[in-house]
Amino acid sequence: MIDRSQQSPMTEGPAKHSPFASVRAWLVLLALVSLLPLAATMLYTVNETRLMAHQQAQERLGLVVRVIGVEIAQASAAARQLVLALAQSPGTFLETTERCSRLLSMIGQQYPIYASMFSTDERGNVLCSSVPLGEPVSLSDRAYFARAMISTEPVIGDVIIGRISGRHTLTFAVAMRDGNGNAQGVLGASIDLRRFLEELDRSHGELLPGTVLTIWNHLGEVVARVPDREGIAGRQSGDSALFQAMAAHGLRLGYQQLEGLDGVERHYAFTGFGPNESRIWVSAGISSAQMLEDVRRVFVGSIVAIVIVGLVSLILAWAIGGRSILRPVRRLTAVTRSLARGETGVRVGRLSGANEIVELGEGFRHMISALDAHESEQRQAQARLKEARDSLESTVRERTAELTNASIEASEKAGRLERLRREDQVLNEMTGLLQSCRNLDEAYPVLERGLGALFIDRPGQLCLLRESGNALVAAATWGQTAPDASTVFAPEDCWSLRLGHAYSFQRDGQRPQCGHVHGQAADYACVPLLGQGKTIGVLHVLGGDESTGRPLLQTTADRIALALANIKLRESLLNLSIRDPLTGLYNRRYVEETLEREAQRCLRGGRSMSVLMLDVDHFKRFNDTFGHDAGDVVLRTLGALLKQQFRSSDLPCRLGGEEFLVILPESDEASAFKRAEGVREAVAALDLHHDGKSLGAVTASIGVATFPKPVEHHEHLIQTADMALYRAKQEGRNRVCIATKDGKGS
Ligand code: GH3
Ligand code: MG
Ligand code: MG
Repeated sequence: MIDRSQQSPMTEGPAKHSPFASVRAWLVLLALVSLLPLAATMLYTVNETRLMAHQQAQERLGLVVRVIGVEIAQASAAARQLVLALAQSPGTFLETTERCSRLLSMIGQQYPIYASMFSTDERGNVLCSSVPLGEPVSLSDRAYFARAMISTEPVIGDVIIGRISGRHTLTFAVAMRDGNGNAQGVLGASIDLRRFLEELDRSHGELLPGTVLTIWNHLGEVVARVPDREGIAGRQSGDSALFQAMAAHGLRLGYQQLEGLDGVERHYAFTGFGPNESRIWVSAGISSAQMLEDVRRVFVGSIVAIVIVGLVSLILAWAIGGRSILRPVRRLTAVTRSLARGETGVRVGRLSGANEIVELGEGFRHMISALDAHESEQRQAQARLKEARDSLESTVRERTAELTNASIEASEKAGRLERLRREDQVLNEMTGLLQSCRNLDEAYPVLERGLGALFIDRPGQLCLLRESGNALVAAATWGQTAPDASTVFAPEDCWSLRLGHAYSFQRDGQRPQCGHVHGQAADYACVPLLGQGKTIGVLHVLGGDESTGRPLLQTTADRIALALANIKLRESLLNLSIRDPLTGLYNRRYVEETLEREAQRCLRGGRSMSVLMLDVDHFKRFNDTFGHDAGDVVLRTLGALLKQQFRSSDLPCRLGGEEFLVILPESDEASAFKRAEGVREAVAALDLHHDGKSLGAVTASIGVATFPKPVEHHEHLIQTADMALYRAKQEGRNRVCIATKDGKGS
């Protein structure tokens, strides 16, 4: 079964989740985003409300100012009617009486809006007053007094602090006239503007919440202010921004947002009333905070609503996200992890929540059953695969064994081939060398080395049959230990020579051991050497059968036999050309060829070389007396004697007839003479017979010549020796004479 845990990245531990990437976080974000249009609507509403509040405040302030105007007009009208009514009874008020003052005081108590009521004489001195006067008061310097004295209508005075009331008042005055129309004095009533404003505030309270009402005179003095917690009334503030704005507007209704006298920012509505000299200014102001109170309320209400809606949305998103999405998703995740760990039999169960989640759960159920099916298929496939693999492995094992065997065979074969190649090489080299040998003496060391290299671990020897054919002599021996065998033995001692073919001996076998092999012999083989139909020797090698699969011994024996036969043939051919057939000595041609070579050699080595010239004395007589054959016997015997008398490096030759020459390399005159004497004596001692008859005494004369002293030129050697020989003949024969100088004997 495939371990899913190895295939799934889910086993790398729970992935590191950002808390902001969860479904819940996304739902919460969605809820928050969905509040944005609400918030935008709220901001729009607040802004609209603010604009509306501005407009309403402006309208309300304008209304207040107009109401004040109306009120002032009404108060003015009332004051006018009052002074006109009172001026109808001049007798009452043109005297300083208790009654007059009491009357004015009574009226003043009835109309508290008036700060004072008074009457003057025609000079302006106050006669009686609604408020008691401590000392006499004159109003003659008041502008309204002069105007009233000449006017039939009531006049309005400046808004200044009255001398009687001590307060800012708006004074209405009218002249009291006698029957002739002459002005006898003035009657006046001064409206207490502060009181007027307070009354107004009281009676129009619902119209004026938060509104600051102010009345100014034409000099810029604050006449009255409601409310006036800061005590601003009475202050000169003609240079204030508000008064400047009012003055600029004149009698028109103006609106402006300005800093009030108390430093508070307000929206103001204002206007002026009355003629220039008695003009008053009225302003109504409301603070921006006050004006925007409604806006603030709306704003706060909206914020609270949004927060509540937002919180509810969040809670819902949290709850819905958890119940409808997160819980089933976590369940699916746990199932996926179980699958990744390779746990089988995991079931999803029925999921509740969003449709998509339920569908996802269905999908998972399908996937798990597909996985189970796939897994069982996979198990079957793996079982089949294992079977196939086992069978393949056994086939591979068989093939490997076959290949190994083949490889061993091949390497054995290669070894055999290599051995064959080496044997061929050694054999070829040896036979090549043998073919270049001039004689058997040269061939023996070649054979010994070649056979040693050919039969590395097999000691042996090569024995050659003597010319006589009755004995075999070891010519070459090789190997660490020489075979325990005879070095000279008769042909009958070897079974191979008796049988005429190869003979192998095994210690445990039935065949007899050869006579030339001694002791408890190891296994060996003997192969006869047959050259040109004749036995020339035997090859004897220790060791068992051939392992190269070819008859190496036989091949070697054949090749050696052929080479040796060739050498012998070459030797006999050479002998034929350089030897005298009667005596077997070298012939004249050989002498002439050799003499020069040997002379040069001795000259190089700083040594002497001598020649002996020998001639049989009166040889003719032998022929004549005993016949030519008897003469030949003498000559043959002499040849044999010469061969025997001299060492192998000396060269005895027959020059022709009964004359002989012996070359003695590296031999000085004295030793040559000695040897010549020995020969002469040996000849003289011969006792020859032919056909049963004694041939009588045989003697010989000998001439000796030595190079380079006294014979300086080697080409004169033979001639000089001949002359010495002639001298020996002359001096009586059977003697040895030495040449003294070139061409002369001694
Ligand atoms: P001297 O002592 O002076 O040498 O006398 P000699 O008879 O030996 O000398 P001479 O030269 O007169 O005779 C040589 C003889 O040798 C002549 C010849 O018949 C004989 N002769 C030469 N060659 C042979 C040969 O091959 N066989 C035989 N039997 N005789 C030979
Ligand atoms: Mg002669
Ligand atoms: Mg002679």
